Amino acid sequence: MTDYQGVLDHIAEAVQPHFGKGKVADYIPALASVPARKFGMAVRTTEGDLFVTGDAAERFSIQSISKLFMLELALQHFGDMVWTRVGKEPSGDRFNSMMRLEHEAGIPRNPFINPGALAITDLMMSLKGDTKFRIRNYLRFLAMTDTVDSNADVAASELAHAHVNRALANLMKGYGNIHGAVDALMATYCYQCAMEMNCAELATAALPLAGGGYSALHDAAVISASQAKRIGAVMLTCGMYDSVGSFAYRVGLPAKSGVGGGIVAIVPGKMAISVWAPELDAFGNSYVGTHALELFTNLTHTSIF
Ligand code: GLU
Repeated sequence: MTDYQGVLDHIAEAVQPHFGKGKVADYIPALASVPARKFGMAVRTTEGDLFVTGDAAERFSIQSISKLFMLELALQHFGDMVWTRVGKEPSGDRFNSMMRLEHEAGIPRNPFINPGALAITDLMMSLKGDTKFRIRNYLRFLAMTDTVDSNADVAASELAHAHVNRALANLMKGYGNIHGAVDALMATYCYQCAMEMNCAELATAALPLAGGGYSALHDAAVISASQAKRIGAVMLTCGMYDSVGSFAYRVGLPAKSGVGGGIVAIVPGKMAISVWAPELDAFGNSYVGTHALELFTNLTHTSIF
């Protein structure tokens, strides 16, 4: 049996030379003050065992990782209808690019780029009830803790600077692919991005994706096997923005990143892995986190390839 604890502790040491090469996200001002040298990593096996290292108990802004859980929620509520609002193809463009959206008449390429996530959140807001509570409660359920929450300062900071995302939403509204009010959508989107979780909670929350829908901790099928398969496929092809190819080449796992420096990855049938290191590469993915995951799959032979 692999000594996951030993592997994680080794990685926490081995990544040290990679600090100082990326840059903490600063286009959301409240994120700019996050200490750059944080590093946490967690493994949650499909049996339910947890291994952690470094700052794995410290919460951070999950940002775009929320898009993964929003897709889960949307598929549970709307099934394949979701795919009439967003595609499932990699974009090859920056996460908030507007160009392709106009070419493709307001249907975003996938649910993980910003316009796609906005369309999914808009879809969720068509349900009765407060979408913010629905998001928060779902993440609390997945992470198995009542204290996971959205950071109001981060949400307000993003909302005040959400010019590009607001433009994306307006463009899609013009094409008929945003149905509700753009202002309310922006507030909900910024709320979901400002959710905070730690590495251990994130790995727990992603466990159903690694278990074919089943979570040993919840002792239940949280999503269907088919949904787990489809979401995993979208993670592999769209989860790391326009560096998804080089991430697959280096790490070889379905994953989703966020500009808070978090990445969650799954080894189907085996485990969910999360890593947090705030410095980002040029594509908006954690620089050190990507190195850590590359080391992990090299050392444990857990790439899907
Ligand atoms: N809230 C961020 C935005 O919309 C999320 C981006 C990300 O994490 O990649 O710009």
